[in-house]
Amino acid sequence: MSEVMEDQLTRREFILRGALLASALTAFPSDALGKAPGRPQRVIVVGAGLAGLSAAYVLTRAGADVRVLEAQSRAGGRVLTFRDPFPDGLYAEAGATRIHKSMDLTIKYAKLFNLKLTGFYPADDRFVRLRGGRREVVRWKRMASDVEKFALHLDRANQWIRIEGGNDQLPQAFARMLSDKITYNAPVVGIEQDRNGVRARYSTRGALQTIAADRAICAIPATIMAGIEVSPRFSASKRQTLEKLSYESASRVFLQCRGRFWEQQNLNGFGVTDQPAEIWASSFGQPGVAGILQSYTRGDVSLRLTRMTEGDRVTATVDLMERIFPGARENLERGVSKCWSEDKWARGAWAHPDENQLKQLAQPEGRIHFAGEHISSQPSWMQGALESGERAAREILQVSRNSPITDSSTAIIRRSP
Ligand SMILES: Cc1cc2nc3c(=O)[nH]c(=O)nc-3n(C[C@H](O)[C@H](O)[C@H](O)COP(=O)(O)OP(=O)(O)OC[C@H]3O[C@@H](n4cnc5c(N)ncnc54)[C@H](O)[C@@H]3O)c2cc1C
Repeated sequence: MSEVMEDQLTRREFILRGALLASALTAFPSDALGKAPGRPQRVIVVGAGLAGLSAAYVLTRAGADVRVLEAQSRAGGRVLTFRDPFPDGLYAEAGATRIHKSMDLTIKYAKLFNLKLTGFYPADDRFVRLRGGRREVVRWKRMASDVEKFALHLDRANQWIRIEGGNDQLPQAFARMLSDKITYNAPVVGIEQDRNGVRARYSTRGALQTIAADRAICAIPATIMAGIEVSPRFSASKRQTLEKLSYESASRVFLQCRGRFWEQQNLNGFGVTDQPAEIWASSFGQPGVAGILQSYTRGDVSLRLTRMTEGDRVTATVDLMERIFPGARENLERGVSKCWSEDKWARGAWAHPDENQLKQLAQPEGRIHFAGEHISSQPSWMQGALESGERAAREILQVSRNSPITDSSTAIIRRSP
């Protein structure tokens, strides 16, 4: 990383941490909790992504009475490992994929749940680069500098890891630990609060239910939060920020191949194009004969794919892949895609709020607190989601103990996955 970039990151880190701290300090003017002494704090957590799960975990350990309401039938949200369509136990990440070795919180939780971490990139240095129609076999540095043009600074290849067996094991481990506290298939449609408490309305099996608590944490994307009925309405600045926060589009198309034919060509299955797209061999490091190649696109390219039918997404990706790894078409067994802009419970991949937006997003509204990757010092990463959940849980614990809010946000690496 260049010195200039390091300086910028440090400045940015400083500003984001300051913004989070400022909002936490002004969070609880003279807001008495109104809970009976001795009764555990009751907290509703909306969303069982990593933000909601880490919040629920911290609160439960502190003795709070927690209920997590999750819209889908699974925990994990944007941590989604595709297994079903693939043979021989193969899997591929449709959402969160790589973890930088500096992402201490992600690694802390993976270790807590005894999950094994393994290298993300192959050590063998034979990547393919497609630029202006020209195909070249290049080493890591060249490939990484192309990726940096449209995505992130990649550092060294050996600094990137993943959870062996699939990243979904991380939310699943949280969910097992919190199993009696999570209600699935329970989308929250409305939240009300008054001086006595907070109530969430959620739909379950076609009927509406209401649950009451002392406080709530909304750990869902701003795209979804903006559409939830809240009474009394949030402050104007919160509403505007939620409505205006823009989300990046990201899509993955996976090609299941009958063999790992690129290995016979002495290539590692990873590459980059000027489309722009990153190409990964998702099956790298997995046993079995079949292979999976994936293309990972963002921005306009991802939006174009999102507008296509599933069949056209696969055809377009096979055409691209054939130019990078000749033989892709001949070896194709099936294709499958995931476009996050059309995901009902995310409606986008991730957000990059500016400092002012971050401050507005983190600001509690009475008894309602907020978490999610978009309200952290590392937006767009699992690390950010985990950090935000811990922060929101701490806000509640500190106000209930009547102790001052302290800043313990973690360091930032400002980049998109
Ligand atoms: C394509 C892509 C690639 C990524 N790559 C990486 C990567 O390589 N490394 C990395 O660390 N991170 C990566 N990320 C980011 C990472 O996945 C997210 O930062 C993180 O998972 C977000 O967690 P969250 O809890 O904030 O939100 P989510 O995971 O979105 O969780 C929110 C939860 O709330 C639920 N929900 C939504 N609405 C409601 C409602 N009304 N009522 C109840 N529940 C509701 C959702 O179903 C979901 O389970 C990637 C993300 C994407 C999309």
